[in-house]
Amino acid sequence: MLIVQKYGGTSVANTERIKAVASRVARYHAKGEKIVVVVSAMSGVTDNLIKLAKDIMPLPNEREMDVLLATGEQTTIALTAISLHALGVPAVSLTGAQAGIVTDGVHTKAKIKNITPKKIHELLAQGSVVIVAGFQGQTIEGQITTLGRGGSDLTAIALAAALKAGLCQIYTDVDGVYTADPRLVPGARKLEEISYDEMLELASLGAKVMQSRSVEFAKKFGVVFEVRSSLNEHPGTIVKEETQNMEDIVVRGVSLDKNQAKITLVAVPDKPGVAARVFKAIGDANINVDMIVQNISHGHPDPVAATDLSFTVDKPDLLKAQKVIDSLKPEIGFGRVIATDSIAKLSIVGVGMKSHTGVAGKLFETLAREGVNIDMISTSEIKVSVVIDLAKGEQALKAVHAAFLGS
Ligand code: ASP
Ligand code: MG
Repeated sequence: MLIVQKYGGTSVANTERIKAVASRVARYHAKGEKIVVVVSAMSGVTDNLIKLAKDIMPLPNEREMDVLLATGEQTTIALTAISLHALGVPAVSLTGAQAGIVTDGVHTKAKIKNITPKKIHELLAQGSVVIVAGFQGQTIEGQITTLGRGGSDLTAIALAAALKAGLCQIYTDVDGVYTADPRLVPGARKLEEISYDEMLELASLGAKVMQSRSVEFAKKFGVVFEVRSSLNEHPGTIVKEETQNMEDIVVRGVSLDKNQAKITLVAVPDKPGVAARVFKAIGDANINVDMIVQNISHGHPDPVAATDLSFTVDKPDLLKAQKVIDSLKPEIGFGRVIATDSIAKLSIVGVGMKSHTGVAGKLFETLAREGVNIDMISTSEIKVSVVIDLAKGEQALKAVHAAFLGS
């Protein structure tokens, strides 16, 4: 069988952990399995590299950021290969480019266009373990690219699809997907299984178990995968297509995303085409927008003529988004721009919401009891999200988990 195993930053945080990864891989290899290992940078390394660049200037060139960030994973693949050699196991490390991962040219958030795993197949056929650098690829022109934060997950899922792997295991520092982040909510429980859609909502909502794009990719290509711990032998959580009985549970999980920032444009002229102009420009700058709220303006003498427009972006994109908005000011003519990164987004998720009522009301009641003010609200078929004050985020998370899932 061909197995893809992905080890996240905490699983390769130091040489002891890398040696432990090598032992696990060696055990599978000894059973005669073909193993492709995908590794992240050692934990904290990517953050440190970003910090180094930002010490020099706030908005470093994105091509150079990719050249810089790709070094994190390159360190880990070599150390993992060396650890396997130390155990007498044949292993070869490959960068994303060497593994045949071709991406588009959007630096720091490239998308995988195709994978030509010729080299991987060759090495597997020779009996080697193949270790691939997560999070990176190259353009057709040979430029180094990275796939966005947490992108090693995407490398693993995409490789599992391309190689038609029999098993895809995502190793991390938690035992699986929980009803909430167990580091923040002591009463959180491990789920045996979860649907792609729920996982997708939880991932994109900031339950940091996995990068959301990789779950989308898994759903699209039907890659069933297991999220499990590299620190023990416990079975993890299986992520797969939704099944009948999954709807019995109203709320599968609660998440808190602290990586959001909010921009409000006060007194935006209320006429056709303005929102289009704003979000076209934001989109052209490759900034992901999450929630958007527009309402009658309070800051304008004639409330019919102007609106307030608020939206959220990923925290690292805040400066860039502010720049884009500032550049639109002469053309559109709005009032003040308020930007804040001291917000958090709390969400409840479950496919059971499709068939149960009163879920949003219970959420708002719980927040009210905690004295938490709601800033923005958005809903979908299987989730309710609210933007709240960052400082109250963890308290709110615990209370909401207790209300829906017990403590
Ligand atoms: N090292 C990258 C990051 O920290 C990719 C990954 O860990 O998946 O975002
Ligand atoms: Mg990671």
